[in-house]
Amino acid sequence: ISAKEVLQEYLERIQRLEPRVHAFLRLNPRAQAEAEAVEKRLEAGEALPLAGVPVAVKDNLCTRGLETTCASRILEGFVPPYDATVITRLRQAGAVVLGKTNLDEFAMGSSTEYSAFGPTRNPWDLERVPGGTSGGSAAAVAANLAPLALGTDTGGSVRQPAALCGVYGFKPTYGRISRYGVVAHASSLDQVGTMARSLEDLALLTDAISGPDALDATSLPLEPQFQRALTEPAELTVGIVREAFASGNSEGVSAACENFRQVLQRCGVRFVEVSVPSLRYALATYYLVDTSEISSNLARYDGTLYGLRIAGADVTETMMRSREAGLGPEVKRRILMGTFALSSGYYEAYYGKALRARAKLRADFDAAFARADVLLTPTSPTPAFRLGEKLSDPLSMYLADIDTVAVNLAGLPALSIPSGFEEGLPVGVQLMARPVQDERLFTLAKAFE
Ligand code: GLN
Repeated sequence: ISAKEVLQEYLERIQRLEPRVHAFLRLNPRAQAEAEAVEKRLEAGEALPLAGVPVAVKDNLCTRGLETTCASRILEGFVPPYDATVITRLRQAGAVVLGKTNLDEFAMGSSTEYSAFGPTRNPWDLERVPGGTSGGSAAAVAANLAPLALGTDTGGSVRQPAALCGVYGFKPTYGRISRYGVVAHASSLDQVGTMARSLEDLALLTDAISGPDALDATSLPLEPQFQRALTEPAELTVGIVREAFASGNSEGVSAACENFRQVLQRCGVRFVEVSVPSLRYALATYYLVDTSEISSNLARYDGTLYGLRIAGADVTETMMRSREAGLGPEVKRRILMGTFALSSGYYEAYYGKALRARAKLRADFDAAFARADVLLTPTSPTPAFRLGEKLSDPLSMYLADIDTVAVNLAGLPALSIPSGFEEGLPVGVQLMARPVQDERLFTLAKAFE
C-alpha cells in the first residue's frame, strides 16, 4: 500500500466522520504532495520509520506555510515561516502532516470547549467532551481519523484527553522533546506529548520526535529508547499514591486502577503504598505558576506583530482593541489572575509561595521515588463529562486536572494508559516516573497489555 493510498483512506474517513466529531481546525492542503514526496524518498532507498504515516498535529505547534491559530481569534491567519522541531522530525521520519487539531484557546482548559472555533466531541459519546486541551488530537486518534497525533501538555492536556478518549497519551520529562516552535503557554511547564491507540505506535512516534535539540535551551542530551523499552523486563516496584485515592474518584476509575494493579501483580510487579503529602496543594500551586507565566507569555499578542489587528488612535488603543476582540474569556481570566499574582505587594504572598510549594512537591516526589520506581494514580477522577457541564464554573473545570498537574510542576514523565470502561466510557490510569526515566513507563504499560 502506498503513502498516497494510506492518505486517501484517512481522508475518506475524515470526510465521513469529521462533521460529527470536529477534531480538526483544518487539513493540510499539501498532504497529497507530501505523500508523493515520501514515495520518491522510499524509491531512492531511504529508510523512513514513519514512511507515509499521517499524523494529526495540535494547532499550537508551528507548521511552515500552514496556518497555526492556537484556536484563538487573535492568531487567525497566522502562517508560521518555520516548522517546530517536532514537525521537522516528523517530516524527516517520513510522516505526513494530516492536519491541525482543535484545542482550548492557547491550551487553557480541560474540555476543548474553550476553542474559539467550536468544541470537539468525544467519539465514544458525541454529547460528551473529549477532554482537553489536546481534545482534537485525542478524538482524532480515538475515531481513527489519524493513527498518531501530537499534543502539548502543560498540566495534563495530553494525558487527560487521552484517558477520556481511550487512547495512550505520553508526557515526557521536561526537556526530552524540543519545545522549539511550540506556542508558549507556561514555559516552565509546557511539553509536547504523543498519542496513539497502541503502545508500539506510541513508542515509534515518541522515538521519532524526541532527543536533543540545539534550538531549545532546555533540551536534555538524551537519546530516546522507547521502542527498546517495550522489550525490557518489567521487574519494577510501583508505588500507589495514597492521596490520589483518598476520595473523589468515580467507581469505574477506582476499579480500573485496581484491575491494573492485579494484572501487573500477576506479571511479577511489586506494589507498595507511598505518600506525596503536598499533592493536595498541587492544583492551587499550578494555577498560580501557570497564570503568572501566561500573563508574561501572552503579552506578545498586542495587535502589532501577529494575527488580529484592530487599529485604534494610537498604539495603546490598538493593543487594547486587538486584545479585547481577539482573546477569549478564559485567556483573559488567566492573564488577569497572573498579573495580579505577580504584582508588587502580592508577589511574595502568591507567586513566591507557589514557588516554595512547587519545591516541596518535588521533594515529596523524591521521597516517594526512594520507595518505588514508578507511581500510580488515576489520570482523571471521572470519565468524560457532558458538553456544557463545567462551562459556567471555571473552578470545576480546573478540578478536572487534579491528577495531572503535579507531574508538570515536578517536571516528571507520565503516561496515561487506557485501562477500562465506566458505563461505556473509557477511563485511564496514570504512571509517573523519575525525571529521565520515561522509558520505564512504556516497559510497565507493555506488561499490562
Ligand atoms: N487543563 C490545564 C489548564 O487548563 C492543562 C492545560 C494544558 O496542559 N495545556 O491549564
